[in-house]
Amino acid sequence: MRLLLVEDELDIQGFLKRSLEEAGYQVEAAADGKAAERLAIDGAFDILIVDLGLPDQDGIALILRLRQLGVRAPVLILSARRSVDDRVRGLEQGGDDYLTKPFAMAELLARLRNLLKRKNPPGNEITRLRVLDLELDLLRREASRSGQILQLTPQEFVLLEYFCRNAGRVVTRSMILDQVWGMRIHPDTNVVDVHIYRLRGKVDSNGQQPLIKTLRGVGYVLKDR
Ligand code: CA
Repeated sequence: MRLLLVEDELDIQGFLKRSLEEAGYQVEAAADGKAAERLAIDGAFDILIVDLGLPDQDGIALILRLRQLGVRAPVLILSARRSVDDRVRGLEQGGDDYLTKPFAMAELLARLRNLLKRKNPPGNEITRLRVLDLELDLLRREASRSGQILQLTPQEFVLLEYFCRNAGRVVTRSMILDQVWGMRIHPDTNVVDVHIYRLRGKVDSNGQQPLIKTLRGVGYVLKDR
């Protein structure tokens, strides 16, 4: 999936680019409207993320311009402007979805998936993830182990989904914070450890083989064999 990211705040742009690439997108980034236009003319994109406050033009004006240039891909507007008026204006003038800053990466990824699904309805997209005897139904948002349904909170489900998508690979605490909680939480918090402790209590109970392994000082890994 090719994604065009238009964001002028370079630290947010860098964070988003890394996170989106980890999620499997091929990302081209632009820091202003002119650069975005050039990229959009040069290459086809499946989806766009556009910030409204750009240095050389308004993001809405950019979206209108891109539509004139024949860009049909869905656009997710990402903006600090939170008022109902701004959001309605954004959606009426070419945006397909609107997310306000600050945002959680997991929510951004879910919205992108929705936009892409709407664009390509009959799907062969992944709806189930399976790692050993662990199974996630991404449509029902239901997890089970050896056929037994796990009672997870929505946040725990997102966390487990992230582990399954990275099964067998080490994920660090900061990767989890970025992907599951976005930028809303200070990195020193122990929220990750607390959630993993609870998740483990549900996934690795009943004397089954423990799947979530801690690598001290490094991070965690979900066993895939
Ligand atoms: Ca901006």
